Amino acid sequence: MNIETACLHAGYQPGNGEPCALPIYQSTTYNYDSTEQVAGLFDLTVEGHMYSRISNPTVDAVEQKLAALEGGVGALCTTSGQSATFISLLNILEAGDHVVSSSTIYGGTVNLFSITFKKFGVDVSYVDPDASEEEIAAAFRPNTKAVFGETMANPAMNVLDIEKFARVAHSHGVPLVVDNTFGTPYLCRPFEWGADVVVHSTTKYLDGHAQTVGGVIIDSGKFNWSANAERFPGLTTPDPSYHGIVYTEQFGDAAYITKARVQLMRDLGCYPQALTAFLLNMGIETLPVRMDRTCANGQKVAEYLASRPDIAQVNYPGLPGDPYHGLAQKYLPKGCSGVIAIEIPGGRERAAAFIDHLKLIRCEVHVADICTCVLHPASSTHRQLTDEQLVACGIKPGMVRVSCGLENVDDIIADLAQALDAVSE
Ligand SMILES: *Cc1c(COP(=O)(O)O)cnc(C)c1O
Repeated sequence: MNIETACLHAGYQPGNGEPCALPIYQSTTYNYDSTEQVAGLFDLTVEGHMYSRISNPTVDAVEQKLAALEGGVGALCTTSGQSATFISLLNILEAGDHVVSSSTIYGGTVNLFSITFKKFGVDVSYVDPDASEEEIAAAFRPNTKAVFGETMANPAMNVLDIEKFARVAHSHGVPLVVDNTFGTPYLCRPFEWGADVVVHSTTKYLDGHAQTVGGVIIDSGKFNWSANAERFPGLTTPDPSYHGIVYTEQFGDAAYITKARVQLMRDLGCYPQALTAFLLNMGIETLPVRMDRTCANGQKVAEYLASRPDIAQVNYPGLPGDPYHGLAQKYLPKGCSGVIAIEIPGGRERAAAFIDHLKLIRCEVHVADICTCVLHPASSTHRQLTDEQLVACGIKPGMVRVSCGLENVDDIIADLAQALDAVSE
């Protein structure tokens, strides 16, 4: 199936007389004929739904769809993008471990890595995404277990050289985890470039309607955990909570995603409700048409903004003069999303005044929405970061993140123009 078709048909194919819309199985529990059946579920020798903290038929259909869209062997939905990132790494980390991450990543992920991971005894080193392979390799330690980056970074909008990061990760025997939230599987499929695990905040383009917070982890099934067995004991040695099963032996290519579900989702319990998965599925059905319009609007708005002399900088990899245009042509041939980072000269105050003059465009703590919205990272999502961390994330005090929605592009541009004129007078 091509991706437009898979967005509609993967994961759920109704049989004769069955409903065409994905049924909402709003049930916490499942019925069994015998205790032996239930015992098999707890031993992981029988497949099936046991309890809706671990799996649910509605969520399962959406997981299968997302796995198909990214080209993975399995997926695990979570209640937020944050919990997806957290579980994707916790699944291979233990106290005392280390992660190498691109420095240009979502501010919430920086908090997770720098503050919360530290409390778990996990250190994260940040590398410039444009660093050479040798420079990235220098950040590795004997206890490094994963490499992390974002396809298009929120909000810096630099494009990750996925192949470069995958090469360095693999030469050190560790997987590359890519946050593909802005890319979506429609614009970029990181597994085709060597990534091993993909996470999304489905809250953004996948849901697309600003209605449901959610996340997903997708496993390529390609990383050879057994070849690096001593580095990943959680996957390659017995799990006492399941009578000593070894995930790589019992589940083969799906070891990683199975462990994430039956061990971490069981213990952490951040699994979405059936109704939430139903809404997410409805969003995914229209992803390709929405992304085409979003990218077209993003491109036109970026070109307009770049033409204004009163804007210091426009970061949008779809612009021919953008430093990431070459990487965008390679990794994002269909478009660069609707997200544009601009810098309003005059710093914090003028950026805020510009936002306050907008009439149609909303000021939201959101991005990749169906409606055009703006946000000032330095005073919102990234306000917890020090100035040094801000700069490392590619953020200046006057930076405004513009996220183009599906309105007529002339109306988006007219609103931006009148607000810019108002603060330029
Ligand atoms: C929003 C976002 C997240 C966090 O997702 P939530 O669903 O808000 O928890 C992670 N990564 C990126 C790139 C994001 O834009």
